[in-house]
Amino acid sequence: MSEKILIVGAGQAGMQIAASLRDDGFAGDVTIVGEEAYDPYQRPPLSKAFLAGDMDEESLEFRNDHFYRENNITVVTGEQIQHVEFGPAGGVATGTSGATFAFDKLALTTGAAPRTLKVDGADLDGVLYLRHLDDAKNLKQRWDSVANVVVLGGGFIGLEVAAVAQKAGKNVTVVQSGPRLMARAVSSITSDFFVQAHRARGTTIHLNAQVSHLVGENGKVTAVALADGTSIPADIVMVGIGVTARGELADQLALDMEDGVIVVNEFAETSNPNVVAAGDAVLMPHPLGHEGRVRLESVQNAVDQAKVAAKTLLGQREAYSAVPWFWSDQADLKLQIAGLSSGYDQTVIRGDQSADKFSVLYYRDGALLAVDAVNDVSDYMAVRRALTARANIPAESAADSSVPLKTLITGGEAQQ
Ligand SMILES: Cc1cc2nc3c(=O)[nH]c(=O)nc-3n(C[C@H](O)[C@H](O)[C@H](O)COP(=O)(O)OP(=O)(O)OC[C@H]3O[C@@H](n4cnc5c(N)ncnc54)[C@H](O)[C@@H]3O)c2cc1C
Repeated sequence: MSEKILIVGAGQAGMQIAASLRDDGFAGDVTIVGEEAYDPYQRPPLSKAFLAGDMDEESLEFRNDHFYRENNITVVTGEQIQHVEFGPAGGVATGTSGATFAFDKLALTTGAAPRTLKVDGADLDGVLYLRHLDDAKNLKQRWDSVANVVVLGGGFIGLEVAAVAQKAGKNVTVVQSGPRLMARAVSSITSDFFVQAHRARGTTIHLNAQVSHLVGENGKVTAVALADGTSIPADIVMVGIGVTARGELADQLALDMEDGVIVVNEFAETSNPNVVAAGDAVLMPHPLGHEGRVRLESVQNAVDQAKVAAKTLLGQREAYSAVPWFWSDQADLKLQIAGLSSGYDQTVIRGDQSADKFSVLYYRDGALLAVDAVNDVSDYMAVRRALTARANIPAESAADSSVPLKTLITGGEAQQ
């Protein structure tokens, strides 16, 4: 068994690898190094409860100091690892301060960074991104003095910020370059519902809209100019146009990568057997055994893949087979997704969209793939359970909304 395990990236996946190593009985050194000034904390509330003022900074932390002490996990904060290499007797990582960290095995949990806006005016004050706690604090500090919020990008984070801003009484505009909201994750049925829902709550949404440039005065953003000539007043511009994986260190180690994303197998193993990787920075085989590889940006994936990675580090290989799930809170709408809908050829809609409570089930060749559930936890749970058991919910019977989905699960392995 290896003596020293170094985890680079003190986020959701990094924290989970450390905790799982101890749960699985590893007695050697565990060190997590993170570039942020904080112990590992939860990111999802940054665009939800924390921004809304319903959750404080302390409550974001995964664990308190006592946990790290008791489990003998060293957490180094404020240290960006800039260089990493393997020598004949293990590896060494070097941080910005010059500190070095020797290791036998390495876990890369470096996450992702927001894609930056590339138009004139993108560097004006008030153009903001949201990935880290410091970003959220910066946003919150400005919040009260802001009347006009423009969100660029109709993805989950942008829409969550838009919903919080709208509820706080601000003028909110979302600009989406493509025809649909959340287009990478949900079908047009769910996208269209959310367009109407946000509009009904007072948010202006521009679809198929291209940003020409940002306008500023005295170095501060004042408006977003669209290519069609529209000018939208802005006190802040929240840019949520996707992320890119942080693959710099993997690149240094010449690990297999695809478009800057670290490629791993079902054991979270990279092309170097002494290096695992997990979380947003990773491209992996489809967890339910379908064709192709996927990169998932979710708490579920970071946690489940980290557990797999910890086992691999200890030589107890267990393939990743967890059902993907995800949630997003937008105003009074809770969207929950289980499974991955890509490649679907049939949908079944249940419930009542006009009552803000419905679900969309996705199928391919008659087999259940996924669900988007809005304010419908029972449909979400039923699909998650069916997928976990590798079972089905036949589309023809699912179409009757009066029948609870959980009673329609057929086949599969022992249900959990
Ligand atoms: C605002 C927001 C809202 C979200 N909401 C949801 C949600 O509702 N539901 C959901 O499922 N998911 C949500 N997510 C996504 C979820 O938080 C991520 O999928 C998850 O955090 C990924 O974990 P990770 O460990 O891969 O990356 P991260 O949690 O980002 O951790 C990576 C860490 O590594 C650090 N790092 C990178 N490179 C280095 C280096 N060289 N040296 C030292 N440190 C380094 C980074 O600074 C960061 O702290 C949200 C994300 C954000 C930003």
